[in-house]
Amino acid sequence: MNEYDSNRILDLVKKINYIPTKNLNEACCYILNTCHIREKATEKVYHDIGRVKKAFRKKTKPIVLIVGCVAQAEGDILLKKEKYIDAVIGPQSYHQINDIISKLETKSKPINYTEFEVIDKFDSLNSLKNSNNKISSFLTIQEGCNKFCKFCVVPYTRGAEFSRSITELVLEANQLVENGAREITLLGQNVNAYNNQNNKLSHLIFEISKIKNLKRIRYTTSHPTDFTKDLIEAHQSCEKLMPLIHLPIQSGSNKILKAMNRKHTIKDYLEVINSLIKVKPNIKFSSDFIIGYPGETYDDFKETIKLMKDIKFINSYSFIFSARPGTPAFKLKNIDQKDAKDRLVEFQEIAEKVKIQYRKKLTNKTINVLFENKMRDQNKYFGRDEHFNSVIVESNENLTGKIKNVKILEGNHITLYGEIVTNLNYNSFAA
Ligand code: SF4
Repeated sequence: MNEYDSNRILDLVKKINYIPTKNLNEACCYILNTCHIREKATEKVYHDIGRVKKAFRKKTKPIVLIVGCVAQAEGDILLKKEKYIDAVIGPQSYHQINDIISKLETKSKPINYTEFEVIDKFDSLNSLKNSNNKISSFLTIQEGCNKFCKFCVVPYTRGAEFSRSITELVLEANQLVENGAREITLLGQNVNAYNNQNNKLSHLIFEISKIKNLKRIRYTTSHPTDFTKDLIEAHQSCEKLMPLIHLPIQSGSNKILKAMNRKHTIKDYLEVINSLIKVKPNIKFSSDFIIGYPGETYDDFKETIKLMKDIKFINSYSFIFSARPGTPAFKLKNIDQKDAKDRLVEFQEIAEKVKIQYRKKLTNKTINVLFENKMRDQNKYFGRDEHFNSVIVESNENLTGKIKNVKILEGNHITLYGEIVTNLNYNSFAA
């Protein structure tokens, strides 16, 4: 979502003639868009400002803006501790960035803009064409969360759930496709809770799928309790909807899920997974895991391992529990950190094995790849298959924006390497 926000900030500041530079030393305005989901986020802000200070030691200081969730969560502290910062701007206030820059150009005092004005933000962004021109583009459809998992900062930094209207989203999706997008990933902190005037995510997907040159639709990140029947059925009836779902589970233990206030059990989660497999047999899943949540015993952890082995997630993102200030879990007593680290290592080894086994099976299979870009200084193209695996092929033909059948020759845990298939044998498609 920060990538989407950064692109929109770029669209905004272009209106006041600010353009991006790759050379930090020549910037007159430095905008750091931050994420607060992991620990050390604030330290990273200070570290980055240190780099800017060093680069501008003998020059005029640039305007320094801290945007995003760190600004939202710790804005006052940042302004107090680091005088080099000119303004902190929360994720729901960045539409005001041009006014803020104008004020700072005339040397006003440090500014704190961290109000929740999500409707104002999108009202103001809607009048501004989205100029992002990536083959695979992001589109924020929903922000905020009402779930209040005990470890999570999102409800405090992004605010309550808000869903944008179908009309404005179809308009923006059309802009992205006119700019060259062939795949759109619909974004939301709780994307499948999307609901605008009783129009749900499945409705939006069908509306966007009518855009002729759009070939693929994805959405992330979902919550198990918001997987409604209509959304599950959309995976059967909408061909453009890709068969990979990122569905965070966090723990395989019901006791820990309850302690986290996840509002679902393992049984609920498995029901969603099985319903999706029923309508779309080739569907795959990725997930997020928190290892060593306060109160987690080794038996709880074993249940997480079991879940990984049972579902065979093709990708997983696992971290040791990191207490975020301002969340209820911040006050909880941590488990022994050596135990937590050992469990993380054990978990990641198993997750890696599962992933390697899955990827081995792809060798000699033919898969469908949407190519996103030519690789720098090489006759190679980078793309992704339907399950979001990275694929590289050599080609003399310009493949950017095209979907091709690719036979996988080899791969490692990051990238698959293949060749374009011209004579197709449909039976060889990976399942
Ligand atoms: S559902 Fe997701 S975004 Fe919402 S509080 Fe839980 S972890 Fe955070």
